[in-house]
Amino acid sequence: MLILRQLFDPASSTYTYLLADAAVREAVLIDPVFEQARRDAALVRELGLRLEMTLDTHVHADHVTGAWLLKNLLGSAIGVSGASGAQGADRYLGDGDRIAFGSRQLTVRATPGHTNGCITYVLDDRSAAFTGDCLLIRGTGRTDFQQGDAHAMFRSVRERILTLPDECLLYPAHDYRGLTVTSVAEERRYNPRLGGDIGEEDFIGYMKNLGLPHPKQIAVAVPANLQCGKPEHGKVPEDANWAPLTFTFAGMWEIAPHALAELNEKPQIVDVREPDEFDGPLGHIEGARLIPLAELNARAGEIDRERPVVLVCRSGARSAQATVLLQRAGFTRAANMTGGMLRWHAEGHPASTTAVVH
Ligand code: FE
Repeated sequence: MLILRQLFDPASSTYTYLLADAAVREAVLIDPVFEQARRDAALVRELGLRLEMTLDTHVHADHVTGAWLLKNLLGSAIGVSGASGAQGADRYLGDGDRIAFGSRQLTVRATPGHTNGCITYVLDDRSAAFTGDCLLIRGTGRTDFQQGDAHAMFRSVRERILTLPDECLLYPAHDYRGLTVTSVAEERRYNPRLGGDIGEEDFIGYMKNLGLPHPKQIAVAVPANLQCGKPEHGKVPEDANWAPLTFTFAGMWEIAPHALAELNEKPQIVDVREPDEFDGPLGHIEGARLIPLAELNARAGEIDRERPVVLVCRSGARSAQATVLLQRAGFTRAANMTGGMLRWHAEGHPASTTAVVH
């Protein structure tokens, strides 16, 4: 069975695709975004997959690829098109190359036009293709910067993408309206730029008159992507080095009770249960401060922003909500204690049941 997940980066409207062989648990990730690398790594871990390779469809101008960062986080190889000019990849791909993950594979089709090095990845049974910025849903990528060439794009779409089977699903690298997928048959018929009877010269005229603003990120993104997303300083972002933490696909940092118990430098502990639970049979962690979840927004000022904070409740659910709430309020070092006081007890850590005057 094939695992296919479409992930979205709202800042750049980029789609990232996780594909995996469910039996063998080997995965590849198409067009990861630097700022979403932690999220992507979390999903790979939660699904029990091994990320073999990241695959960019081209040198992007609107976001930095997560390829280098994921290689550092998960050990994945980096695959890019040989014609992209990017340095630091493990595998340079060309037309007809195959990328295996478990028993499945993707085949590379060169589809230049948006850039020289644009490639489309076609799934082995031709049921799906990942078209990057060549063919978009009822649209195409731009041809007015990098090595854009509208003639080349017309031929790439007509000869290399729309020649796939009618029912082949097409997954683009972007959509700015929230559309997620299309198919060969519908783009052949309804694409307003190059579907139906539209000729090459009509397409050239259309592309000359798009009048789009210059991409905001181009000065940053292109040089970084030519290094496969390696930042100039060459360091992995240190966003969570104060404790052994895990980032979840749900979007928060978590700490296991034993990891919290073993920390030498104690973080602030905020218990978000009700007062009767705090002093009840489960007790509370020594030194914990009680701020019930309903009061957390109003009382966030009582928590020191300069120090890490761990959120605690009975089972880890309310504290998860509290963690998200503090993250939104600008606390960069907030983590949820997984499993709450129930797991704290199950692991045999001491709790205080002394009643506290609240
Ligand atoms: Fe692009």
